[in-house]
Amino acid sequence: MRHAVDLSGRVAIVTGANSGIGRGVALELARAGAKVVVNHRPNQDSEQRGHAVVQDITNAGGQAVAIAADISREDDVEQLFRAASNHFQDIDILVNNAGIEQPAPIQDMTLAQWQKVIDTNLTGQFLCARAAARAFLNRTPKPPAEAAAGKIIFISSVHEVIPWAFQSNYAASKGGVSLLMQSLAQELAPMKIRVNSVAPGAIRTPINAPAWNTPEALASLLKLIPYGRIGEPEDVARAVAWLASDDSDYVTGSTLFVDGGMTLYPEFRGAG
Ligand code: NAD
Repeated sequence: MRHAVDLSGRVAIVTGANSGIGRGVALELARAGAKVVVNHRPNQDSEQRGHAVVQDITNAGGQAVAIAADISREDDVEQLFRAASNHFQDIDILVNNAGIEQPAPIQDMTLAQWQKVIDTNLTGQFLCARAAARAFLNRTPKPPAEAAAGKIIFISSVHEVIPWAFQSNYAASKGGVSLLMQSLAQELAPMKIRVNSVAPGAIRTPINAPAWNTPEALASLLKLIPYGRIGEPEDVARAVAWLASDDSDYVTGSTLFVDGGMTLYPEFRGAG
């Protein structure tokens, strides 16, 4: 079956693409015809899983390359974008996906735990967005007037609006992503660069395995999801593909919640 969204000829960088949502996004963008840079952390395990994603894409007839970079490090991010454009020329799409959790009660949270989450989820997304904006602004020749000059998609979270006890570092990082995204969208729209977020709810990935990997945990999680099922990486990936495509050309500065209704205050059904 032909893919509904057409990204043929486009080049996309997906950060943290060796696992979970990033992997799903990389596969979906490739299915839509994009050439994909599969970023992974510079360690052996991440590298192997990054190469496995590239293999999945090439086996299906797509094009991809794995590039190691710790996106919380400025030099690594510069190197990632240089290596990506050496391999595929102009970059069209950045999916700012890499992220981590380090939960702790506030009285026990170390500065290292705070800093690590902010460095990855917020500063890392800033560093990659800045590199993408520079690449989009400097590209020659310019894309045709009817097309966007580039697209940045942040993977945020429902926790950009829902407070999260014991994960205050994570919620603060995603709240920061919300206004970072909107500010960049406002700043870059006149240059025809579109900037949006996808905010997932509970998606079945390694980051939150304890929330779904036993029947009891899953039953308790489902109370928070009016739509009655946990999300899959493909649910998020399809939303990202649409935001990365010209079908969403008039959309910028938006957060698309892909959460089965988690942000709809489900505990108020029949109450209050
Ligand atoms: P995951 O743990 O499967 O994937 C995260 C990826 O980011 C991994 O590949 C990891 O190696 C990579 N990563 C972490 N730090 C990095 C760094 N410094 N440099 C490069 N890569 C790095 O988890 P996931 O659920 O796929 O998470 C992806 C994104 O989705 C994150 O931003 C997360 O906050 C967000 N999110 C996930 C959920 C969910 O329910 N799974 C919900 C809301 C938001």
